[in-house]
Amino acid sequence: MPISASLVKRRGSLLVVDDSRLNRDALSRRLTQKGFLVETAANGADALERLSSGRYDLVMLDVEMPGMSGLEVLSRLRATHSQSELPVIMVTGRTQSRDIVEALGCGANDYVTKPIDFPVAIARINTHLSHKWAMADLHESEERYAAAVRGANDGLWDWNISTNKVYWSPRWKSLLGYEDEEIGNHPEEWLSRIHLDDAKRVKEALSAHLASGAGYYESEHRMLHADGTYRWMRCRGAAVTDGTGRVTRLAGSLADITEAKVADALTGLPNRLLFMDLLDRAIKRSERRRDYVFALLVLGLDRFKVVNQSLGVQSADRLLVSVSRRLQSCLRGTDAVSRDTSGFTLARLGGDEFTVLLDDINDASDAIRVAERLRGALRAPFDVEGQQIFMSATVGITLSTTGYERPEDLLQDAAIALHRAKADGTTAVELFDPAMRERAVSRLQLETDLRNAIDNQELTVAYQPIISLGPRALIGFEALARWHHPTRGHISPSEFIPIAEDTGMIRQIGKIVLTEACRQMANWQRQFGRLAPDVMCVNVSAGQFGQHDLAAEVQAILTETGLDPSKLKLEITESTFVSELGSAETALARLRSMGVEWSIDDFGTGYSSLSYLHRLEANTVKIDRSFIARMGSGDKGSEMVRAIIALALNLGMNVVAEGVETVEQAVELQTLGCENAQGFYFSRPVDLAAADGMITSQPWREETVRIS
Ligand code: C2E
Ligand code: CA
Ligand code: CA
Repeated sequence: MPISASLVKRRGSLLVVDDSRLNRDALSRRLTQKGFLVETAANGADALERLSSGRYDLVMLDVEMPGMSGLEVLSRLRATHSQSELPVIMVTGRTQSRDIVEALGCGANDYVTKPIDFPVAIARINTHLSHKWAMADLHESEERYAAAVRGANDGLWDWNISTNKVYWSPRWKSLLGYEDEEIGNHPEEWLSRIHLDDAKRVKEALSAHLASGAGYYESEHRMLHADGTYRWMRCRGAAVTDGTGRVTRLAGSLADITEAKVADALTGLPNRLLFMDLLDRAIKRSERRRDYVFALLVLGLDRFKVVNQSLGVQSADRLLVSVSRRLQSCLRGTDAVSRDTSGFTLARLGGDEFTVLLDDINDASDAIRVAERLRGALRAPFDVEGQQIFMSATVGITLSTTGYERPEDLLQDAAIALHRAKADGTTAVELFDPAMRERAVSRLQLETDLRNAIDNQELTVAYQPIISLGPRALIGFEALARWHHPTRGHISPSEFIPIAEDTGMIRQIGKIVLTEACRQMANWQRQFGRLAPDVMCVNVSAGQFGQHDLAAEVQAILTETGLDPSKLKLEITESTFVSELGSAETALARLRSMGVEWSIDDFGTGYSSLSYLHRLEANTVKIDRSFIARMGSGDKGSEMVRAIIALALNLGMNVVAEGVETVEQAVELQTLGCENAQGFYFSRPVDLAAADGMITSQPWREETVRIS
């Protein structure tokens, strides 16, 4: 960065404005001696006239002048766009501290007091000029930097590396809540006020910049304000080097960016950062005052993902803003909060989750009442671009009486209660209790155990026979994962498969089952020849598509086990298929070209049309067992099954009925033309030895069923 070069070349052009001739002359003489180009003006009108030419780099402006005062000149100057960032140093009587405050408020960059201490004045002028020029240089090369320095509102600093003294501009000090004389000139004035969590990062960036002297320095960090709070600051600077490239000074600006940091950009509500800080303070208060109880509410919008997908991101954002307004005005409305609590803070943590901190409540019932009112406030439809959208919300609550030390724990517990309520479906407002945390912890434990189970080979495969209904015969097996936990015994796939899916472990588990099932099937082909089952069905989850190359993995397993691809059929649930549309489609196309078939599992539980799935060349439809269970009971169950079977056959697809538990179901399905079935009526999933036995004995072959 060519800052040093520009400092050498440039001569600052200054305007000295003072009604006293004596002062004007004294000041301009000293400044001219120092190499500045100096012009003078004797009153405000003259000054403004001259300044409109735009040829000055800095103004020394007397505060007290007859007619137009220095402050008035300043405000007019700041109102002129082209002059809004011209450095202005006010000249004022030593005792006029009110003037100083006002001048800084009007956008003065600095001030000096009369009688003028010339070395100080010249140092300050130099600081402002070099900053101005540095900014101008940077502006050419670094648009971003210049844009962020909003001139008058930033505090300035200038660090002389050789003396290790820093000039802090009055604005710099006032950003931190201090008067000019309250802060010395040591670098520690800055460094010691940096939040402990940020200090290391800032110091490292600073030494790196000092070492290289190139580019500019920038950091965002918290600084301790005189009022005891931490403010977010953006500190920028650039090194000034001498002819040999040695860094002699570091100068830059400081801006308070707390507002931008703590507000949620979309709704303007406090964001996570600020909210966590408030929670932290509430925790500390509850530690001091035993009678102080507060509640944390986490409110999640129901089905927001669906809304997001169908409305598009922009409209969904608009909807979130409307929701936040309603929540806010509900809380502000006198009856929602004031009767039960002493105050509230509404924040948005991101996505569709809002949080409310309820201050000073009596007990849980206050929090529950507020939660119900918040839900009530969302009841009326929202208007999004002329469309009526109905929203509802679920709320999780936790109370400070549970005993917390960290804000994160409160948030976690309230979220546990929220998810519990969502999963449960019976209640929309749930209060956290420690048993919930235990359940959450035990799920976490299960996750760890599952990881170990994979390594320790605790996972095995069970086989459930698939029977043809026409002439009864064993036509194949479905492979189902089984987990024998060392202490808890058998754990159901409906418990561990969802965990595996959430954590990504499903890829490993899927591979284990697939490999084992293929190896077994290949063995049976060799061992039993014509008697061997025709097909091995293996379940595949959504997480096995995507980035992961499922087709390549299947190919490798087929090669390794020597299984004929036509003997393998993958089962993919309707919902998986819909959620993974893009990636599933390509993977399935490749699998098909390899000769591997696939079935739609749990058909009827999603909302896709069979003809759509057929176009994607599914070979088989497995009718979900909930439909089979409702058959024959006089309601529409049989009709649904009849319709699905007719349509599937029409499209040339195979049909398997799942969950056949009674002879009546088997008979009815047969009458409806269903070709294959699976269920406890025939056999539960069995271990390898038992499956072997079924192949040898073929227990269903001779069975005849009387249709009464
Ligand atoms: P699914 O794919 O629908 O598998 C059929 C489930 O229904 C099996 O439960 C089976 O034991 C059960 N079932 C079979 N016949 C009957 C019956 O007549 N009545 C009743 N009530 N149930 C019957 P399981 O083994 O507990 O597996 C549950 C689910 O876990 C499976 O549902 C499947 O979605 C998933 N799963 C199991 N193994 C794997 C696997 O290796 N990979 C993947 N991705 N998912 C698996
Ligand atoms: Ca299945
Ligand atoms: Ca199924």
